Amino acid sequence: MTSQAKRVNAKPSLKIGIVGGGFSGVALAATLCRLADQPVMIHLFEKTGCFAAGEAYGTPFPFHLLNVRAKDMSAFEEDPLHFLHWLTANQAAQAMLDPDISPSEQFVPRVLYHHYLQDVLAEISGAAQATITLVLESAEVIDIERTSHAAILTLADQRQIQVNQVVLALGNHAPSAFPFPVSPQVQTIPNSWDYTALSAIPKTATVLIVGTGLSMVDAVLTLHHQQHQGLVYAVSRHGLLPLPHTEGCVPFDLTALPTPSDLLAFSRFVRTQSQLHMKAGGDWRSVVSALRWHLPALWQQASVTSKKRFLRHLLSYWNIHRHRIHAKLAALLSHLRAIKQLKIMSGRVKRVVNRTVEIQLRHAHDSLHMEVDWLVNCMGPPLKLSAMQQPLVQALLQRGLATPDDLEMGFAVSAVGALKSREGDVSDWLYTLGPPVKGTFWECSAVPDIRKQSLQLARHLCRHE
Ligand SMILES: Cc1cc2nc3c(=O)[nH]c(=O)nc-3n(C[C@H](O)[C@H](O)[C@H](O)COP(=O)(O)OP(=O)(O)OC[C@H]3O[C@@H](n4cnc5c(N)ncnc54)[C@H](O)[C@@H]3O)c2cc1C
Repeated sequence: MTSQAKRVNAKPSLKIGIVGGGFSGVALAATLCRLADQPVMIHLFEKTGCFAAGEAYGTPFPFHLLNVRAKDMSAFEEDPLHFLHWLTANQAAQAMLDPDISPSEQFVPRVLYHHYLQDVLAEISGAAQATITLVLESAEVIDIERTSHAAILTLADQRQIQVNQVVLALGNHAPSAFPFPVSPQVQTIPNSWDYTALSAIPKTATVLIVGTGLSMVDAVLTLHHQQHQGLVYAVSRHGLLPLPHTEGCVPFDLTALPTPSDLLAFSRFVRTQSQLHMKAGGDWRSVVSALRWHLPALWQQASVTSKKRFLRHLLSYWNIHRHRIHAKLAALLSHLRAIKQLKIMSGRVKRVVNRTVEIQLRHAHDSLHMEVDWLVNCMGPPLKLSAMQQPLVQALLQRGLATPDDLEMGFAVSAVGALKSREGDVSDWLYTLGPPVKGTFWECSAVPDIRKQSLQLARHLCRHE
């Protein structure tokens, strides 16, 4: 399906292909629309046909909440209250808010954010200036080639589209397959971001969720809301759960302090400053929220060895402090644990034979054996580019137009997100943003990070810098 949003009279000199219609693709298109002072044609490609959703905002369930407060969720770096204004002006959205809490402080349903992004996309079509033509393409891009004068995108339906700049907004990839054998007697849900798949689980089934992060919280919520009565186990290497947000934290002021110079010093700094801030009546959350903005600079300077050390020893701890959940969700998890419907374990699943799962518990010699009916994969996106079974990613790597970063987590890129080729040349036509730059900047995939990248990249593409 192709939808012509708007036609311009002047022939566009800039034709941009944006691959991926999730938050990154929509935010970039909308930012380009605000900045463009020459005719621009944007082709926005989305393989699912559902624009403005992606993995995060594609959930149909109102109990799946944003994990960032509404005041920080604007799609535009230079218009930080844009989402809040949308929220307060939108009557249907109002009905989903808590009347006792200021809208700016609320963690609103993610499905509302999908509606917001749809409106952002519609705004491009309705924009007053006649500089932008937006073409929505419900198609998967499977290959990109460069000729002497253009970039040619090949779609899964074999059509070819010619542009002069390409941005990969590919987002998070589905979790890898379970890294252990699973017998056919146990039913599996290979990707918990397939939100409605959990409805197939009978109420009395015993469920094992692999992973104990934010996706696990989503899955437990879904089961709870479909009146699940059976036991639910969740297992991960450390068995750590995301920590809750709190209200009204005293802000942490970093300006007077010398910021840490390497990753080891960073983790010590977080600990000591948190302790000092808490002694002064503050909360560690303010320290983590302030310091996380320093991580991209530190990450880029750090050696591969120290980044790998961080990932090996600190990743699980950083994740639970950094990616927090609403306090009422944390309270629900505690309640389900207290009534023994939910059990969290730390260990490694070794195999599933018949209906018996064998788990090597952390710090224990013996394995645990237990019977389950269903397995749910909440392992999160793979941390290796090579594990992404995306035809486009494989094609770009094979052509040498892209190369993995030092950690092989995503694409090697320049500061503005230009891809580096296999030979190390920085592209002047192929860019990316969002999760694919994780290996280079680490903190890059939440809305406040992506909208910064969108502005920087839009300025670059419009040659404003
Ligand atoms: C479950 C979940 C909840 C989250 N909640 C929050 C939150 O509350 N607040 C926050 O700030 N961040 C949150 N995040 C972080 C999230 O990564 C970002 O907010 C943002 O959604 C990332 O957007 P994206 O467009 O880069 O990726 P995605 O949302 O994954 O979108 C990428 C899109 O590209 C499409 N695509 C991929 N390859 C191709 C191709 N070859 N051709 C065509 N289309 C293609 C995909 O179908 C997909 O729709 C959450 C993430 C997840 C996974």
